[in-house]
Amino acid sequence: MAYVYDDTNIFARILRGEIPNKTVYETEHTLAFADIAPKAPAHVLVIPKGPYVTYDHFCAAASAEEIVDFSRAVAEVVKLVGAEAHSGGKGFRAITNAGEHGVQEVPHFHLHILAGRNIGPMIL
Ligand code: IMP
Repeated sequence: MAYVYDDTNIFARILRGEIPNKTVYETEHTLAFADIAPKAPAHVLVIPKGPYVTYDHFCAAASAEEIVDFSRAVAEVVKLVGAEAHSGGKGFRAITNAGEHGVQEVPHFHLHILAGRNIGPMIL
C-alpha cells in the first residue's frame, strides 16, 4: 500500500513556518532542529523537507539529490554537536522510529541524533 502523507503533522507545520523551531542546520532539502523534549544534552531532529512518512518511504521515494543532501546534513549536524567519533568527539546515536511498532509519534520521517552523554545500551 502506498504511503499517505498527512500534511497537518507538526513537522510539516514547522516546515511551513507556522510554528517556531530552533534550527541547527538547513539546506535546500533538509532541516535540522532541536528536539523540544531533549533526551540528551544534544538532541537534534534531521528531517527532509519533502513529504516522506518514514525512513523506508524516504529511501524508496526521495530523489538521489534529496538523499545525498539529507546524508550530508546528518554529517554536518554530528560535526556541529561535536560528536564526530573519529576526530575527538565521543560519538552519538542515530535513531528513527517508524509506524505503530516503531512507536513513531510524528508521521514525517525524522532522524534523532543524540549526543553529549553516554546514551547507554540500545533500548528495546
Ligand atoms: P518520534 O516518537 O520518533 O516520532 O519522535 C518525535 C519527536 O518529536 C519527539 O522526540 C518529540 O519531543 C519531538 N517533537 C514534537 N514536537 C516538536 C516540536 O514542535 N519541535 C521539536 N521537536 C518536537
